Amino acid sequence: MIARIFGRWVMLVLLLTPVLAQAEKLETLPVTRIAPNTYAVYGHIAQLNTQNRGFNGNAGFVVTTDGVVVIDALGTPLLGKRLLASIRKITNKPIRYLILTHNHPDHSYGTSALKDSGATVIAHAGTQDYLHSSDFESSVDYRREIIPQDMREFRAIAPDQAIDGDIFSKQVFRLGKHSFEVYNVDHHHSYGDLVIRQLPENILWIGDLAFNGRTTYIGDGHSGATLKGIDWLRSAFPDAKLMMPGHGKAQRPPFPMLQQTYRYVERLRTKMGQALEAGESLESAVDECDFPDWHKVPLYAENHRRNCSFVYREMEQEVFFAPETP
Ligand SMILES: [Zn+2]
Repeated sequence: MIARIFGRWVMLVLLLTPVLAQAEKLETLPVTRIAPNTYAVYGHIAQLNTQNRGFNGNAGFVVTTDGVVVIDALGTPLLGKRLLASIRKITNKPIRYLILTHNHPDHSYGTSALKDSGATVIAHAGTQDYLHSSDFESSVDYRREIIPQDMREFRAIAPDQAIDGDIFSKQVFRLGKHSFEVYNVDHHHSYGDLVIRQLPENILWIGDLAFNGRTTYIGDGHSGATLKGIDWLRSAFPDAKLMMPGHGKAQRPPFPMLQQTYRYVERLRTKMGQALEAGESLESAVDECDFPDWHKVPLYAENHRRNCSFVYREMEQEVFFAPETP
């Protein structure tokens, strides 16, 4: 009898050991309280590498009386788990919603951990197109090559609730004393971008509509839509108290990151528009597209030439498809 009980006990310990070991190894992430019940998780200002292991975008969460709303999921399944462990250090309330500002890897590839914990995933309808695109396949392959261990449990997750409708229209999700207005901001930076207004605090989660403390990245989306999106943000929410971007720290009014991002993108469009008018080739237009006052801004060296090239090709299309003036 004693031997049998002892045997079962040994068996239980053996069964639990891997689970405990995994939980112990899961390192939490630094969490910053940015407003009552509202927390930011700030990623590194850098490109993906083996040091930051894909922790190069922000996420955040709001603890309401009825559960937790998470905004963005970070860049790998492992980071999604670490985000969940970090939330668990603050509250044991259920995770009710995960809202993805957009489908880029650094913001959405940790989704599985939140989904498996019971969250309803809210994302732009364009996410479904993204998950069937070659862009998606190549980005997953790239991450698997650089950080295979962290990407091991990766799987594509379609939104449970897809946001579409007219540009700048909203859907509202209420939870406890909070409401979350989720706005469709078109595809200015990805296959589909959202902005979230958290009430009653009046905090805007703007995703990658503006960047704080680094050079923007324009790899898909549309530069013209970025300018329209920033204009809309400024006029629609004049009383916003705080803005949380997808990269860099949260900002208070007058939100200088909006002006900085706007000016940079507008300047790219002016420069590339002039190059096209002068009949310059893509190569020479990109060579001459230098912004010396931006040299010291992080990620200029990595992103700027690519941004120039993207905007040149984009504007070439605009000229090509522009309606003829009578
Ligand atoms: Zn981003």
